[in-house]
Amino acid sequence: MIVAEQKSLDEIRSLLRGKRKVLAVGCGTCVAVCFAGGKREVGVLASALRMAGQLDGSPVEVDELTVQRQCEAEYIEALKDKLADYDAVLSLGCGVGVQTIAEHYDGATVLPALNTKFMGGPTEQGVWLERCQGCGACLLDYTGGICPISRCPKQLQNGPCGGTDAGGRCEVDATMPCAWHLIWEKMDKLHRQDELLEVRPPKDWSTSRDGGVRRIVRDDLRKPKLESGA
Ligand code: SF4
Ligand code: SF4
Repeated sequence: MIVAEQKSLDEIRSLLRGKRKVLAVGCGTCVAVCFAGGKREVGVLASALRMAGQLDGSPVEVDELTVQRQCEAEYIEALKDKLADYDAVLSLGCGVGVQTIAEHYDGATVLPALNTKFMGGPTEQGVWLERCQGCGACLLDYTGGICPISRCPKQLQNGPCGGTDAGGRCEVDATMPCAWHLIWEKMDKLHRQDELLEVRPPKDWSTSRDGGVRRIVRDDLRKPKLESGA
């Protein structure tokens, strides 16, 4: 999932400075699961904003709406007839959701209530860890399902850096296990350690973010273009 966390109330209030009527829009998918921007969080944030506005003499009207997914145009159709009534939309979606609303509703002021952090998942209650950096050429088959790009701070591709401590902890961040230690142990369990000893060509990073804005085009899913004159 995409993992995000809410900006501080002070920061959100500063984004909303001068706005009298705001629509807070939650998203019922990733950011709801990580307790940052679902219906419940929209309710709590909206109440906090109203209360803070009352207390310091700058009241703000905050209405609430949560859509199933902010990142797809069809799900934000629900905003269509409402936006004219508001000075701003406060999106509790991830950065994709904010941009989808802003793109779809050209004249609307859309403000981000969240900081989008990473792709990851919960590892224990209240803790989420990064698990994928979207490198575009997944190598989890080679590493026993453990990603050295997101889980090794040095993004090493060919084994540990040598700084791993005796307990198998990472030298950069001792609160976490060395990714390569985990990979080695996992491949041992799978009886595949010999594969890690094979020399592999360097990773092709052209599929990663460094090559610029990425896209996927699926011709089998695209609408056929009408012939001119048809
Ligand atoms: S190898 Fe690339 S695509 Fe696979 S989990 Fe890691 S960053 Fe994500
Ligand atoms: S100790 Fe392991 S995880 Fe940490 S930087 Fe070195 S190889 Fe990467």
